[in-house]
Amino acid sequence: MAVLLIFLCFCVDGKRHLFMGRDDVLLDTVSAGQRLEEGLPKLSANPPRYSNATRRVQTSAIRELFALLARPDVMSLAGGFPSAAALDLDGLREATKRATARSPALAFQYGNSEGYLPLRELIVQRARETGIRLDAAQTVITTGSQQALDLVSRVLVDPGDRVLVESPTYLGALQAFRFQGADLISVSTDNEGPDDLEEIIVRQRPKLFYLIPNFSNPTGAVMSVRLRKRILSLAKIHHFHVVEDNAYGELYFNEPPPPSLLALATEEEREWVIHLSSFSKILAPGLRLAWMSAPVELLRHIVVAKQLSDTHASTLAQLTAFHYLNAGSLEPALSRIRHFYRNQALAMRRAIDAELTDTSFRTAWPEGGMFFWARVPGIDTSAMLEHAVGCGVAYVPGEPFYASKPDFTRLRLSFASASVEEIGVGIRRLAQCLHSAHEMSAEHEVTTEPSLRTA
Ligand code: PMP
Repeated sequence: MAVLLIFLCFCVDGKRHLFMGRDDVLLDTVSAGQRLEEGLPKLSANPPRYSNATRRVQTSAIRELFALLARPDVMSLAGGFPSAAALDLDGLREATKRATARSPALAFQYGNSEGYLPLRELIVQRARETGIRLDAAQTVITTGSQQALDLVSRVLVDPGDRVLVESPTYLGALQAFRFQGADLISVSTDNEGPDDLEEIIVRQRPKLFYLIPNFSNPTGAVMSVRLRKRILSLAKIHHFHVVEDNAYGELYFNEPPPPSLLALATEEEREWVIHLSSFSKILAPGLRLAWMSAPVELLRHIVVAKQLSDTHASTLAQLTAFHYLNAGSLEPALSRIRHFYRNQALAMRRAIDAELTDTSFRTAWPEGGMFFWARVPGIDTSAMLEHAVGCGVAYVPGEPFYASKPDFTRLRLSFASASVEEIGVGIRRLAQCLHSAHEMSAEHEVTTEPSLRTA
């Protein structure tokens, strides 16, 4: 009976659970992950002594899922972190050695808030090779692009300000904007975006529009050049900042994505572009290094906010990255990484084709990045997660990636961290889980909704 009740909780009727009110899930978008983890303290839903900002944000579902990844019986297709096999550990060790041997006094000393100039110069040089005109004065090194998102929202957003976000989008960005009290407006950026995009902008008067144009997290989608140009032109006309998050742009399988918004922007449009890129996916996330480029005037305020936040990104990490790039190690490593992720994605596609075609699971092939974004009609993927973990597989439900009106039938599968064999096992387990879910959902229809079956 208990098993039956669990199954019935994840059958969906349109957007509603059959036997579970939606409100309890919406209250806390991370409930699915939180229910499952055991060791971490729970966040109270409404901590009365804490700031309004603290009350606005709950911990991220993905962070909570980390607790599951340690369980040996669960194959995780959830986390979006690079496989150890994709990290150039020898190259990183060498670069760290050079950093500490050649300039130990610098490596262990305070640095400036903008970041280590020789590293910024190498970044600018690489950017120029991809058509982005930039100089070091227009860049700041941040402690991961997560910090860049936090700084951008603290410098630009006041409580109640409107922020346009894609639907769905990276939930770490949603959290940063929510913390600042932003009023999030979801916009679909499929194909050419909504016909009435300009009307939405005129009506909402957004402070900024946050975009992941290349191999997006979670969708893997690439934004068309036409839509990139349209958004740039609207930003110039209606005076809002475009935050271009390029976390995955260099992880393409075959062809590079279209030019970045920063590269496409005219001189006037550039005044509205904030570009974020990260070393996390192309070098090592543990270095916690990313870079931001923005108009110089805005960057000055970003640097003040950064001083309040952490003074500067780790000097040792910056020197390590500098020596790695300076030795010419990044480009060959990137070629290997692209090849590696392409193989991983192919392994996942083969497993999906072999195991999931007789379920309602549907997905598109990504051309880069780390994720398959799937739809499973008839299933509430948040509610099913607990059952999936029982079947020995973890994914990220779609729900937390939406600022509003979540599509509960969506889920994200990562091919980044698991081995090819593990991907096969994980997809097989997901298929078993979906088969049992579909069966129970069909049984439920027979016992409770005979009229629907004959309609
Ligand atoms: N943006 C996107 C789209 C991401 O997926 C992530 C993390 N996976 C980040 C930013 C943050 O990355 P980091 O702080 O490691 O640079």
